[in-house]
Amino acid sequence: MKSLTHSRVHYLWAINELNEKKGYARAIDIASLLGVSRSAVCIALGHLKSMKLVIEKLPEHTLKLTILGKKQLDNIDNNFMILSRFFKAFLNLDEEIATKQACMIEHLLLEEVAKKINQIIDKPLGSSSEKINNSIVKPGKMYD
Ligand SMILES: [Zn+2]
Repeated sequence: MKSLTHSRVHYLWAINELNEKKGYARAIDIASLLGVSRSAVCIALGHLKSMKLVIEKLPEHTLKLTILGKKQLDNIDNNFMILSRFFKAFLNLDEEIATKQACMIEHLLLEEVAKKINQIIDKPLGSSSEKINNSIVKPGKMYD
């Protein structure tokens, strides 16, 4: 299976977001949400469709995540949360850097590594615990 790239993760995220907020996602909506060109969207969608993560409904040309796509995105969102918490609470990185770094590597995290980090942030040491909060919002913009 072809692997997801950082930018393709953002396409999945955008499609999911648009479906939740507007009830549908067209290529043009994705382009404006991510601030990319229509042709960039077309290329990315081609890859995502061939990876069976996204399906296009005709004749409306609206896009939806497949069950597999949704599963991958949930997993990546979870990794993002784990990483950004870890970076803030244990590395004392500020919000901006923690978010940016987590966003760049969220799709690369192995399950066993995510589990280990989760164990650490679940039982934080000393003062680190106070810095952990649940208000982590995934950035819409792409850090490239
Ligand atoms: Zn990202």
